[in-house]
Amino acid sequence: MSIRAKLAWTFILLLIFGITAISSYSILFIRNYLLSEGEQQIINDTEWLAITIQNLRVDEDFETNLNEAARTSGYRLAIYDENGILFADVPYYRELQADETIDTNIASLIRNTEGSLLLSDASSERLTSYVGLETIHNPAKYLQVSISKGQIYEPIKTIRWIIYTGMLISIGLVLIVSITFSRYISKPILQLEAAARDIAGGNTSKSLNLDRKDEFGTLAESLNRMAEKLRSDNLELKKLYQKQAQFFADITHEIRNPLHTIAGSIEMLQLGQLDEKQQKKYLLTAERQTHRINRLFKDLVTLQRYDSDGQFIQKKRFNINQAIQMIAELYDSEASEKGLKLQASNRSFTVEADPDKIEQVLENLISNAIKFTNSGTISMNAREDNGQVIVEVLDTGIGISEEHLERLFDRFYRTDKARSRDKGGTGLGLSVVKSILDAHNSDIHVESTPGEGSRFWFTLPNFS
Ligand code: ADP
Repeated sequence: MSIRAKLAWTFILLLIFGITAISSYSILFIRNYLLSEGEQQIINDTEWLAITIQNLRVDEDFETNLNEAARTSGYRLAIYDENGILFADVPYYRELQADETIDTNIASLIRNTEGSLLLSDASSERLTSYVGLETIHNPAKYLQVSISKGQIYEPIKTIRWIIYTGMLISIGLVLIVSITFSRYISKPILQLEAAARDIAGGNTSKSLNLDRKDEFGTLAESLNRMAEKLRSDNLELKKLYQKQAQFFADITHEIRNPLHTIAGSIEMLQLGQLDEKQQKKYLLTAERQTHRINRLFKDLVTLQRYDSDGQFIQKKRFNINQAIQMIAELYDSEASEKGLKLQASNRSFTVEADPDKIEQVLENLISNAIKFTNSGTISMNAREDNGQVIVEVLDTGIGISEEHLERLFDRFYRTDKARSRDKGGTGLGLSVVKSILDAHNSDIHVESTPGEGSRFWFTLPNFS
């Protein structure tokens, strides 16, 4: 059974029970009320009927007058003489005859009672009252006045009819109201259920708009938020999966290239027709490619460690200037070989970071600067800014155009793949830089103008 039908039936049954209970109670109450009113009425009527009958003369109109009294009062009248024998019985019905003689117990009770005597018997179908008569003109001694209880309960028929009609109308109204109301209540439940089913089935694109301020509205909002979160998580997962797939494809590609070159060199050497100079050339090529694979694996291991272990970094306070001077010395000859000037600032700043990793950052940035600069100057500076130390590497090289800047730190991303490989690059240098600085809660920034040069910089906490 649907929730809507359940709700409708609950309302209908509850209201039918309620209405039936109230109607039954009302009818019972009215019956009792009518009976006690009837009892009071018969007592009063018996007394004035007694007065009327006491004054009747026994003549040819006696019967007619008695009948008239019975008719106008609506009671059945039975009159007994002083011996207790039935004297008159009006109106006369064969099937409803008065006793020929009055019960002697009742007769003595009447004699001992002042006013009328009501005999109330719940099992009896009639209400009966007696009174003693003081007659002069007729021999009547006892008057019995009775009426059927059915006559007293007569108004109930109308009341019952009114109540039952009202009940039927109410049930009809209840049916309409409960069906409408249950529809109103169950509609959002059905909508929520459909939305939850959609989400469970992976369809998170739909958004639920209930336009209600109650709990259903809040629930719909929560469901929408849940769907939105699932949607963005799914997108994130998809991106991650694509990134990973791309990453593996890149690794394969990066290894296949040098392996091909090495295999080619070995094949040439195996031919045995090369002079010493050529042999040396192929051996050198194979050696360079081996180094390249070696570097690639080293970088990959480093990246993997940063990805899985945040504790890899061991911070301590050290003078950044020493690191700058050390790297400048290390790369001085390489820069000179290309005819480049390598400058390094000489200002001391105490920073808190992992010195080895920061040296690796500087090394990667400087080696890139040398790789991608054909003439001019490479500078490495440390300076203070807003309470922090800014470390920057500047070059006057080929620069990087705007469209590459966003993906520059992605693994294996190069602005010019062939050129980078020619220069022995793995395409992981800047990813390693980013990972190291991420682990330091710092960021790597770049600004560059193609043909003019580039500037890479990052900040470290200053403890000078
Ligand atoms: P690679 O091993 O190719 O140097 P990196 O991750 O270090 O890998 O650098 C990614 C790419 O960014 C390089 O291939 C190059 O295209 C560009 N790049 C990095 N540094 C510079 C720079 N100083 N000047 C111009 N281009 C640069």
